[in-house]
Amino acid sequence: MALVVQKYGGTSMGSIERIRNVAKRVAKTYDAGNDMVIVVSAMSGETNKLVALANDICEFPDNREYDVLVASGEQVSIALLSICLKSMGYKAKSYHGWQVPVITDSAFSKARIEEIPDTNMRADLKDGTIVVVAGFQGIDREGNVTTLGRGGSDTSAVALAAALKADVCEIYTDVDGVYTTDPNICTDARKVEKVSYDEMLELASLGAKVLQIRSVEFAKKYNVDVHVRSSFNDNQGTMVTKEDKEMEAVLVSGIAYDKNETKIAVMNVPDKPGIAAKILSPLSDANISVDMIVQNVSESGHTDFTFTVTKADFKKALAITKETAKDIAAKDVVTDENISKISIVGVGMRSHAGVATKMFQTLAKEGINIQMISTSEIKVSVVIDAKYTELAVRVLHDAFGMSGKDVKGE
Ligand code: ADP
Ligand code: ASP
Ligand code: MG
Repeated sequence: MALVVQKYGGTSMGSIERIRNVAKRVAKTYDAGNDMVIVVSAMSGETNKLVALANDICEFPDNREYDVLVASGEQVSIALLSICLKSMGYKAKSYHGWQVPVITDSAFSKARIEEIPDTNMRADLKDGTIVVVAGFQGIDREGNVTTLGRGGSDTSAVALAAALKADVCEIYTDVDGVYTTDPNICTDARKVEKVSYDEMLELASLGAKVLQIRSVEFAKKYNVDVHVRSSFNDNQGTMVTKEDKEMEAVLVSGIAYDKNETKIAVMNVPDKPGIAAKILSPLSDANISVDMIVQNVSESGHTDFTFTVTKADFKKALAITKETAKDIAAKDVVTDENISKISIVGVGMRSHAGVATKMFQTLAKEGINIQMISTSEIKVSVVIDAKYTELAVRVLHDAFGMSGKDVKGE
C-alpha cells in the first residue's frame, strides 16, 4: 500500500464530465489499495474570471481581499470532486488550505509555504478517507487566506507530497508530460522521458507553465520525484528527477517562451553610483520582482536603464518607477507591453561552447531583433518582439535538432 498524491489541473477539472473522469481515476488508484491525497485547481478559466472581477472593481485591489476572492475557484472544485466521490460510494473529504493547514508567509498573491502539519490529513487517511485539498491556497500565521501565485496548485501538491513523505506525486494535466517546448505552439515538440530538477527549474521560471517554479524548488529540496502526465490517457509521462549522466549529453533540452513580461525603460538617467539601487529598491519594497535588467553605456554622463516585470506587476511597477524617475531627474519613462522572452535550457551547455552564438545566428537569419539578453550556466534568454514568439520557438527547436533522435528519452 502506498501513499499517492495526485494533482488535477484546471483543464482536467474543466467540466462536470471531466470531474467525473477525475473521480474515476482517483477511485481506480484507491481501489488498488492506496491512500490518496488529491489536490485540485479551479475549473479552467475560473481564476482568470476572478482576477478580472478584482481588476474591474478598482485599479489596485486590496491584497488581502484579492486572495480571498481568487482562492474561491478551488473551493468549488474540492466540493464537486468530493460530492462525486461520495456519490460513487467512497469516503472523501474536502479541505480548504486553512483546514489542512497549509501555513504560508503573508505575501498575498505570491505566498510561500512554510509548514504543513499532517495530523488532520493522517487521521482521515487512517480511516480510509480520500483527502481532497484545494490547491493554490493557504493561511498565514495571522489567519489570513493567502494564495501561492498563478499555477500554484502544482506547488501545493509537491509540498503536500513532501510533508506526507508520499511514495508517489503525480501531476495530471492536459498534455502527456514535459515536452522539448510547448506542444501547443510547436507541432514538432517531443515528450521527454525525464528532466532534471535544475532544467525544470529553468524551464518553469522561463515560462513553461506545465509546472509552477516553486513546485520544482520543493521537489528538488525534498527529493520528490514528480511524474507529469495526462488526465486524458494512461501514457507514461515525464519524470522530473535528479540529474544523471545521460542528461548532460544533450545540449539543449528545452525551449521556453514567456509572453507575460513587460519592459520599462528609465531614459536619460544621470549615470552615478547607486542609480540601479535607487530605481530597483522601491520595487522590491513593494514585493515586485524584476527579471531582466540592461543598463546602456553612459553618454555624456547619462544612461538608459531598462528592466522587465510581469504583466501582473506592470501597473504598480510603472507608477512606482515614475515617482523614482522624478526623484532622480530622469528624462522619461517608456514602456513596451508587447515583448516575449525566449529561452533555451540544457545542462549540457555547461560543457559546450557556442550555444548562445548559434541561438543569435538562428534568430538573425529570420530577421528577429534581440532587445535584451541574459544567461546562466544552463540557459540563454532573449527578449524579442512578441509577434515573433512562435516563429522563434520553431526555428530554434529546429536549429538545435530537438525533433530528431538526439532528444533524450527517445
Ligand atoms: P494545468 O491546468 O493542468 O495546471 P497548465 O495550463 O498550467 O495546466 O500547464 C499545461 C500547459 O503547459 C500545456 O497545455 C502547454 O501548453 C504548456 N506548456 C508550456 N511549455 C510546455 C512544455 N515544455 N511541455 C509541456 N507543456 C508545456
Ligand atoms: N487556479 C489557479 C490558477 O489558475 C492555480 C492553478 O491552476 O494551479 O492560477
Ligand atoms: Mg498549471
